Amino acid sequence: MSASGVGRVYLVGAGPGDPGLLTARALELIAAADTILYDRLIPATALAGARPEAELVYVGKEGRGPSMPQEQIDRLLVEHGAAGKRVVRLKGGDPFVFGRGGEEALVLREAGIPFEVVPGVTSGVAAPAYGGIPVTHRDRASAVALVTGHEDPAKPESAIDWPALAAFPGTLVFYMGVKQLPRIAERLIAGGRAPDEPAAVVERGTLPGQRTVVATLATLAERAEAERIRPPSITLVGPVAALRDEGLRWFEQRPLHGLTVAVTRARAQASGLAARLRELGAEALETPAIRIEPLDAGAPLDPSGFDLVCLTSPNGVGCLFERLAAGGRDARALAGATVAAIGPGTARALREHGVIPDVVPERFVAEALVEALADLPVRRALVARASVARDVLPDALRARGAEVEVVDLYETVAERLSDAERAAAAAADYVTFTSSSTVRFFLAALGGREAIGARTRLVSIGPVTSATLREHGLEPHVEAARHDVDGLVDALLADAASRAAASGAERA
Ligand code: SAH
Repeated sequence: MSASGVGRVYLVGAGPGDPGLLTARALELIAAADTILYDRLIPATALAGARPEAELVYVGKEGRGPSMPQEQIDRLLVEHGAAGKRVVRLKGGDPFVFGRGGEEALVLREAGIPFEVVPGVTSGVAAPAYGGIPVTHRDRASAVALVTGHEDPAKPESAIDWPALAAFPGTLVFYMGVKQLPRIAERLIAGGRAPDEPAAVVERGTLPGQRTVVATLATLAERAEAERIRPPSITLVGPVAALRDEGLRWFEQRPLHGLTVAVTRARAQASGLAARLRELGAEALETPAIRIEPLDAGAPLDPSGFDLVCLTSPNGVGCLFERLAAGGRDARALAGATVAAIGPGTARALREHGVIPDVVPERFVAEALVEALADLPVRRALVARASVARDVLPDALRARGAEVEVVDLYETVAERLSDAERAAAAAADYVTFTSSSTVRFFLAALGGREAIGARTRLVSIGPVTSATLREHGLEPHVEAARHDVDGLVDALLADAASRAAASGAERA
C-alpha cells in the first residue's frame, strides 16, 4: 500500500512466449506486484517470480470460450488501483499493439489512477524473427504494416482498407487466426498484390513447438491448411519471407527442436538439465518424481575424531554442511580428516563449501571408491549418505578393520505431480532417468509402465539405473556412456540425430 493510499497500475508486455523475451522491467514489476491480472498468451513461467501473497487473477479466455468482458477487466483494474495496490496488468506481446492497452490506460486516467506502460516484444516482429524472417531488409522492405484480424466486431467490414493495404510498399504482418487466411489473400490479390509474392505463417512463434510455412500469397492458405496450422499464428506477406529459405532459418534448426523431454529428477536439481535441454531446442518438462527430505535436520553433527569422511552425493554434502552449521561449525571441522567424494558432482559440491576432496575415483560407483581408498590407513571412518543406500563402502572399510559410522543424512521421497504433469510426462518424446529412485518413483506416480506412451523413448544415466528399468519390465532406449548429466545429454542428442536422419531418409 503506497503512502498516498492510491495504487499504481503497470500495463506490462510479457513478450510472445519465450520466457527469455520478458523484459528486465517486467520481471522486476511481477516480483513486486500485489495483484497481477494476466492474459492467456503469456510465457508459462511469467508468474514464477510473483510474491506468494500476490493475488493472481486470470482474465483471459477459457478454452475456446469468450474472454472476460473488457468492462469487467477495466473495473478490476480501477478497483485494485483505488485500493492502493501495485497492480500489474500482464499481456502477451506488447500492451499497445493490439492489446487494448490504450483503452485500459484511458480508463485509468479517467478514474485518476496513475499508470505506467512497459513495452514488450511484439509477436508480429518476434515470431517472424524466430522463423528466420526479418520484417525489414535493406533491399527488400523499407516499411512494415502491422494489421489486426481481431478488430472490433462492432466495426463495419470496411474498417480495413484492403486496396490501400495491397498497395502498401513493404511487409504486411497480420495478427490473427488462420481462418481468415484465404479471405486476406483474395483481397490483397484483388487489390493488385502479386500472387507469387512470398508469404509465410508462423505458428506458436518463439515457443518450443514453433512451426513455419513459407509459400506464396496465392498458395499460403492451402499450404497452411495442409500443415494444419493453428492459432496463435502470425501471417506475413512480403519479399522478406523468402529469406528463411536463403539461410536465415535458425530456431527450428536446433537439434532437439519440436521434441518434449521429461526430467524426473528432484526439482532442486532439475534446472541444470532442463536448461541444457532447452538451449538445444527441446521443450523440457520438469516433472520431478522425487524430493530430498533431510533427516534429523537441525541436529548438530560432529565429525571430529574421524580420519576419513566419505560423501556419496551432492545432496549429502548439502545436508552435511547444514548439520555442521547446526552445531556452529564449518568446513574447518573436516580439517583433520581425509575427505573422499564418490564422483565429480559430489566433489564440486564439496569445493563450493570450501573443501577440496582428497580422493575422487575414476568411475562414479561405490566399488571404485573402495578401490581408490585401498592404500589409505583408516582407523575411524564416517560415511555420510542417503538412507536407502548400498552397503558396499561401509562393509569394505569394516573388512579392513576400520570402525565405521554410517550417518543417514536424507531420504528420497515421492514428489507430488498433478494429473496434467503426469499425462505430459507419459506422452513425452523422451523421459530421462538420472537414478534408480527416479525410475521407481516415476513409475509409481504413473501407476505402472503401461501408462508410458508407446513412442516414448527412455533415457538412462548408466547401468545401475538401466537395471532398475529392466526390473520394472522396461528396456532403456538410450544409456549414457558417461554417467553424469553431460553424458546423458550427449546420448540423447545422438539418438535424436540418428532418428532424424532415419526419418529424413524415409521421406526422401
Ligand atoms: N499484444 C500482442 C498481440 C495480441 S493479439 C502482441 O504484441 O504480440 C493476439 C494475436 O497475436 C494472436 O491472434 C496471434 O496472431 C498473435 N500472437 C500472439 N502470440 C503469438 C505467438 N507466440 N506466435 C504467433 N502469433 C502470436
